[in-house]
Amino acid sequence: MNLILLGPPGAGKGTQAKLFEERHGLKQLSTGEMLRAAVAAGTETGRKAKAIMDRGELVPDEVVVGIIADRLGQPDVKKGFILDGFPRNTAQAEALDKMLAGKGLKLHAVIEMKVDDEALVERITGRYTCAACGKGYHDRFEMPKVSGVCDACGGTQFTRRADDNEKTVRDRLTVYNNQTAPLVAYYGGRGTLKTIDGMAEIGEVTRQIEAVLKGL
Ligand code: ADP
Ligand code: AMP
Repeated sequence: MNLILLGPPGAGKGTQAKLFEERHGLKQLSTGEMLRAAVAAGTETGRKAKAIMDRGELVPDEVVVGIIADRLGQPDVKKGFILDGFPRNTAQAEALDKMLAGKGLKLHAVIEMKVDDEALVERITGRYTCAACGKGYHDRFEMPKVSGVCDACGGTQFTRRADDNEKTVRDRLTVYNNQTAPLVAYYGGRGTLKTIDGMAEIGEVTRQIEAVLKGL
């Protein structure tokens, strides 16, 4: 099963993609995570992307399209994949169509996660991640069972993203509304779009996605 999770920053795409990776073996392909790994590794791509990401703007299409083209050629996506944060504009969606056609791959569903702007700001400003295994948490909505200890790996170091501050979040939401939201119409016109209520709690959002997948 090949899916796109489409939604604004903080909608819960990464949270759900990781759950579906665990449960169904679908590979999460997050361009944001891949870019942050490039920044951390100090590669040329990372050096060029860092300032753009800190401003909340979009990294050039050729960079992210190149990253995804490379990932879709690797064997671990054969069982299926979940695109998280890609595509983010019409040019990227068109490039994805070409890539999938060239590889004989089908896109089974585009799942749009709808969340109000104020909830997004609250989710993003409270987001943090285990530095060891990458499991995501939230100050209010998803806390570790034992305070300061990662449920998944026992790690005790946590990180917050440089771009998860209120100013950048609002800029990222503007970028989403101007550049990414038109993809709702792009995919809606082909019948692949399924819209779910991303305002629900995490387990309920998972159930809604499971229901969409069952219906395919
Ligand atoms: P995205 O990948 O779409 O940017 P995340 O999955 O990282 O979003 O979620 C953003 C933050 O909100 C995280 O801290 C996460 O724990 C929390 N979160 C995710 N889904 C929900 C939800 N349904 N309700 C409340 N908080 C959520
Ligand atoms: P995310 O982790 O999806 O919130 O992405 C973090 C940042 O990485 C974004 O604000 C962009 O600067 C950059 N980024 C991630 N995915 C893309 C993409 N598909 N196109 C352009 N920039 C991206």
